[in-house]
Amino acid sequence: MYLKSLVLKGFKSFADRSVLGFEPGIAAVVGPNGSGKSNISDAVLWVLGERNAKNLRGQAMEDVIFAGSSARKPVGVAEVELVLDNSDGTLPVEFNDVSIMRRMYRSGESEYLINGTIARRMDVLDILHDSGLGTGTHSIIAQGHLAEILQSKPEDRRALIEEAAGVLKHKQRKAKSQRK
Ligand code: ATP
Ligand code: MG
Repeated sequence: MYLKSLVLKGFKSFADRSVLGFEPGIAAVVGPNGSGKSNISDAVLWVLGERNAKNLRGQAMEDVIFAGSSARKPVGVAEVELVLDNSDGTLPVEFNDVSIMRRMYRSGESEYLINGTIARRMDVLDILHDSGLGTGTHSIIAQGHLAEILQSKPEDRRALIEEAAGVLKHKQRKAKSQRK
């Protein structure tokens, strides 16, 4: 599985529809300070279901919607679509290309679509559950977070290693089934 493309429209500094294409392997995004590099990783987090505005470097969730610039008026809706190449069958769905889209209006209303069909946030999380990708995993390491990991308590560091090794999800499932 790999990230194939990311489409942003009205998301943070991306007022116009912007399409970013990726190839398998390593991709690097370069650009001057303030040009929107981190907004791209924010978009990935957000489309995958992030609910905490602070993790998106904002005060409120509305801050993800393009707020206007000297040249442009603000917009009313933010949209991000992420397409994953699933031809190796990592994700438990039949599609070779899995498209996850999130849209949010200024009213705070958010909607998700999976391959064009309205879905719940839960459905997005379910699809990603065993993939190691998603909010709350370490698939995205924010600036400054690396130092936090290095300075963390041994228990916390152990949880990180367990997540990377794929052990954590079994522990979480076990705990969940014991609660029922
Ligand atoms: P650095 O190299 O300093 O890390 P960067 O390329 O990562 O920079 P970002 O943090 O992605 O830059 O982008 C910051 C820019 O995005 C700022 O100019 C900020 O005004 C703009 N921005 C963030 N949120 C919005 C929004 N809701 N509407 C319009 N512009 C926004
Ligand atoms: Mg940055």
